[in-house]
Amino acid sequence: MKVYDVAVIGGGSAGVMAVMRTVLNNDECIFFPGTPKHKKRSRAFWVTTVENMPAHLPYKKGIEEPNKMSLDWLAQGSFASKFNWQKNRGVVKIEKAIDGLFHLTDDKDFTYLAQYVILCTGVMDIQPHINGSIEPIFEYANAQLIDYCIRCDGHHVLNKKIAIIGHSSAAAWAGIMLFERYNCPSVYILTNGESPLFDVETSELMNRYNFNVCTEKIETILGNAKAKKLDGFKTANHIIPADFAFVSLGMIVYNDLARMLGAELDQRGFVLTDAKGKSSVDGLYVAGDLRANAKKQIYTAWDHAVDSADEINIHIRRKKRSEHSKLS
Ligand SMILES: Cc1cc2nc3c(=O)[nH]c(=O)nc-3n(C[C@H](O)[C@H](O)[C@H](O)COP(=O)(O)OP(=O)(O)OC[C@H]3O[C@@H](n4cnc5c(N)ncnc54)[C@H](O)[C@@H]3O)c2cc1C
Repeated sequence: MKVYDVAVIGGGSAGVMAVMRTVLNNDECIFFPGTPKHKKRSRAFWVTTVENMPAHLPYKKGIEEPNKMSLDWLAQGSFASKFNWQKNRGVVKIEKAIDGLFHLTDDKDFTYLAQYVILCTGVMDIQPHINGSIEPIFEYANAQLIDYCIRCDGHHVLNKKIAIIGHSSAAAWAGIMLFERYNCPSVYILTNGESPLFDVETSELMNRYNFNVCTEKIETILGNAKAKKLDGFKTANHIIPADFAFVSLGMIVYNDLARMLGAELDQRGFVLTDAKGKSSVDGLYVAGDLRANAKKQIYTAWDHAVDSADEINIHIRRKKRSEHSKLS
């Protein structure tokens, strides 16, 4: 059975850059971007406009369009023979056998062997339930009136009334940072029926800045998403004014394949790695949002992927070098 140099799992920012670097290093790559179901629950799918990075403004589907352009270019270019693109395929099982190789099984039950793996399966932001459903948030999220990433979209709240949906100190700090940066005239923290978990220092700052905390469940989002207008939120006894809102409820970490291999995780489930993305499992590298202790951004995902693919290439070339010296 054929052994690929590198299997890249995940087709978001990290995965596409891992493929690009691996193939341009002339290492043979097998690429699983995920099934449509994987894709739909990935962050890559939900990003629309990218304003915090140079040269991305013209893309209507922020990450998808440039990624597809690069993959098509690779598939047609002079390195095409090194690029094995398993379109719409996801990996459902992975193990490391005694032969030292990774054995991968895809969603159609095909199996593959690879020397190295770069795992880029990402994370998803936890959505708030409104009347028992996560659906009501989506039309406002798609209109970018309710958002998730302060570093990506925080600048939208300049001089605007804001609400943060969340109940932890991290949620409160999102509000504090936005208030301090963007001069927001009012800040509400909506715990959506959960008990607040703010620590003392955070509570003191919230009091000083006159934040309001509402612990009632959100019943309705007020506004007109189609007209790109958020007015606020309705709870049983309050109308909360907000021109813009952020969700800060944490993340679902797609670490199932890392767990199957027994990779070391941090408390939140992110995969622990060294600076080049090498996990506790020999040959398993992790790039993008799944990696512990890193910014969750497109450009960091790219940097991770390049580091990991180049490090793998060093190992592959070292092996070739020693085989070459044995022959001569
Ligand atoms: C609303 C929103 C807006 C954002 N805006 C910006 C921005 O403006 N600028 C910025 O820098 N960052 C932004 N981000 C953050 C950015 O989207 C992430 O940092 C980036 O997408 C991380 O890339 P990734 O490759 O690690 O994961 P993802 O992009 O989430 O990709 C994960 C990939 O893994 C695949 N996958 C999952 N499981 C499997 C499996 N078992 N087998 C095969 N494939 C699998 C999925 O199909 C998907 O292709 C935003 C995030 C959100 C949610």
